[in-house]
Amino acid sequence: MTCPRHTRVAIVGAGPAGLLLARLLHLSGIECVVLESRDRAYVERRQRAGILEQGTVDTLRAAEVAGRLDREAVPHDGIELRFDGRRHRVDFPTLTGGRRVWVYAQTEVVKDLIALQLKEGPPLYFDAPVHAVAGADTDRCTVHYTHEGQDRTLTCDYVVGCDGHHGVVRRALPAGATRVHERTWPYSWLGILADAPPVYEELIYAHSERGFALASMRSARVSRLYLQVPNGEDPAAWPDGRIWDELDRRLGAGPRWRLERGPISAKSVLPMRSSVTEPMRHGRILLAGDAAHIVPPAGAKGLNLAAGDVTVLATAFAGLYGSGSGELLEAYSDTCLRRVWQAERFSAFMTTTLHTAPGASSFDARLQVAQLDRIATSPHAAAELAHNYTGLALS
Ligand SMILES: Cc1cc2nc3c(=O)[nH]c(=O)nc-3n(C[C@H](O)[C@H](O)[C@H](O)COP(=O)(O)OP(=O)(O)OC[C@H]3O[C@@H](n4cnc5c(N)ncnc54)[C@H](O)[C@@H]3O)c2cc1C
Repeated sequence: MTCPRHTRVAIVGAGPAGLLLARLLHLSGIECVVLESRDRAYVERRQRAGILEQGTVDTLRAAEVAGRLDREAVPHDGIELRFDGRRHRVDFPTLTGGRRVWVYAQTEVVKDLIALQLKEGPPLYFDAPVHAVAGADTDRCTVHYTHEGQDRTLTCDYVVGCDGHHGVVRRALPAGATRVHERTWPYSWLGILADAPPVYEELIYAHSERGFALASMRSARVSRLYLQVPNGEDPAAWPDGRIWDELDRRLGAGPRWRLERGPISAKSVLPMRSSVTEPMRHGRILLAGDAAHIVPPAGAKGLNLAAGDVTVLATAFAGLYGSGSGELLEAYSDTCLRRVWQAERFSAFMTTTLHTAPGASSFDARLQVAQLDRIATSPHAAAELAHNYTGLALS
């Protein structure tokens, strides 16, 4: 296969950030190439996020990749909070003037973007790990990667690292060019995918003295469920029966309340970290999505932040290559970071409000219940949650 030797924008990583950026650049007539280290099947079945904000859906529609999403995604107008033996529904449209979220798995967003890109371009190479990036401070960048057993080089005007939290692009930036702010959380999530109908039509966020639980879904037949577990927990310590029993206890809203059980098709433990790299650009190298920042998942923000970054970036490149103005590109990092820090704040709020920290006292637990009670009884507190959950404006 002949691989291009030069392009305008080299995109490292074919997760949601890299694929959506490529699609938006393609629609603006800007040449780019996407290099992905894993194979297509692996990328398409990697289980991750499932909640799309209004702004993400709007971007996917504008990118003309929302045909299946519009047929299959399930709009959600609220979430249910369970705490202290109570149930409270937060109604998004009422509190936000009409905003909502959609349940559509990240795997499906990725499949839709890959199918379109392989049909219409730009070039997308799987099994093409990037091992080095150079030239941030020069006129031209160089990307070194391997494909079909050969070492190859791609030169470009800009490199965008969409290669996730463990990618190579961030590490290729000169020492001292960026600063990383981070926090490791003292608990993890045990996540399962089960062939069982969701217990409720919306997501349930449950606070309990036994730890947090979340009931979510991927479709009308597939549930996605999570339990707070200690860091370093071995999934093998959780046979299926133990998982269902614990979910029933933590989510239970009454003695006879039970989840519908079914075969568990995936089980994994997800550690939680918050991290922001500032700035998100050095010279000709830019970072987007998880390569620049990660959030604990309770706020459902990771995928949406990635989509937000590349929407800003695609507009900035369109300004540069269209009218020759680099103003938006200069502002890229600042524009994104304002939204990123709001998402970090909200994700940290959801995490600390809902999880039981190791060594937490009864006082800590009562404060959490008081916070949840405030959301249940104050329209202002509920509106604050609803606005953040459905997504803040890009700038
Ligand atoms: C295990 C897990 C579970 C999650 N669950 C949730 C959730 O429930 N809800 C939620 O909102 N968010 C969740 N997230 C976060 C959300 O999935 C991410 O924020 C989202 O995937 C970010 O997209 P991205 O494109 O920036 O990065 P990624 O999706 O990580 O994509 C990065 C891509 O770069 C590729 N890559 C890496 N290194 C190289 C290299 N050297 N060369 C070429 N390619 C490379 C990777 O293979 C990958 O395809 C989860 C994340 C993880 C890791």
